[in-house]
Amino acid sequence: MDRDLSEDEGVLDLSFEAESPLVPPAELLERLPSYDWLLQGGRPQIFFPPAESPGRSQQPRSWSSFLEHRFPMVTEEVAREALLSFVNSKCCYPSAAAGDLIIQELTQRTLCRYRLETFSESRISEWTFEPFTNHSVDGPQRGASPRLWDIKVKVPPMFQEDTKKFQVPHSSLVKECHKCHGHGRYKCSGCHGAGMVSRLWAVGECSTCSGRGNKTCATCKGEKKLLHFVQLIIVWKNRLFEFVSGHQLSCPGELLSKAKGEKLFKDEDVVVYPITDFPLREISAASQRGITEHSATVASHARVLQQRQTIEVIPLTEVHYWYQGKTGVYYLYGTDHQVHVVDYPERYCCGCALI
Ligand SMILES: [Zn+2]
Ligand SMILES: [Zn+2]
Repeated sequence: MDRDLSEDEGVLDLSFEAESPLVPPAELLERLPSYDWLLQGGRPQIFFPPAESPGRSQQPRSWSSFLEHRFPMVTEEVAREALLSFVNSKCCYPSAAAGDLIIQELTQRTLCRYRLETFSESRISEWTFEPFTNHSVDGPQRGASPRLWDIKVKVPPMFQEDTKKFQVPHSSLVKECHKCHGHGRYKCSGCHGAGMVSRLWAVGECSTCSGRGNKTCATCKGEKKLLHFVQLIIVWKNRLFEFVSGHQLSCPGELLSKAKGEKLFKDEDVVVYPITDFPLREISAASQRGITEHSATVASHARVLQQRQTIEVIPLTEVHYWYQGKTGVYYLYGTDHQVHVVDYPERYCCGCALI
């Protein structure tokens, strides 16, 4: 470190900017033995306890409501009305064609949407610091720091993502700022402390320091000391697995993922079990796949707080029509009859979004 410093200036010549070290100087670690285990390898560590066993057995379920479920019939009138209100909301679909086309066939289907949500909490600790502003220091002299998972915090409502940072109790230490060596300011690198710089024909004020010759230390914000402490970062995350049965039709999967459906089944607990006996085998398979995937990806690095699996039914109607010698198809999807047009007659594009 360049210590080219005259005492009357009281500043150091430092040209680098503030940074946030993950690991404090070795002497800090020596004074905080209880945190050695957090800092193996000098990288932030993640700790989580094993998932709790729910001690709950799977109940046999009755799927008769699914087998009996019927959506109201979509009539030609309903199909045409839905198309008309769709084309009226789009500037490049003339509504004349929608009013005149001849509906040839309506095929109504019921799709099944399976969703698995896994809400988890992960905890990470890292060393950090902030300028020390003379508040009381909660250091190791007040006791040993609690282990990361013993720190009690308020959990947000289930399935609502959030990130929060907390100062770990009794982990604080005050040290002289390592960037300015406790001076709070350092010599301006633009003018080497003179406050003035030579230009082509004259000498002018240094723009880096506005003529002061020195700058406030960006690391300690001029406070000369830093408060080092262990920061606990908690991330609550909601992972989603989704599967829609029978969407090999031309209606895009992303529309069916947003479509409004009717809830048929909901299962929520700390851990949910795969559905094995649903009448549609691909839904049972999706449930097993989703739960296996989430236990491999989520449970391996976070604590699972809650899981929720749902099965919804979504109506989908395929409408075949004839218009001026040509045939075409459009779809009504969801309980609110949203429209997806595959190939609309007489469409002209003005650059608007087509769907
Ligand atoms: Zn300067
Ligand atoms: Zn400083």
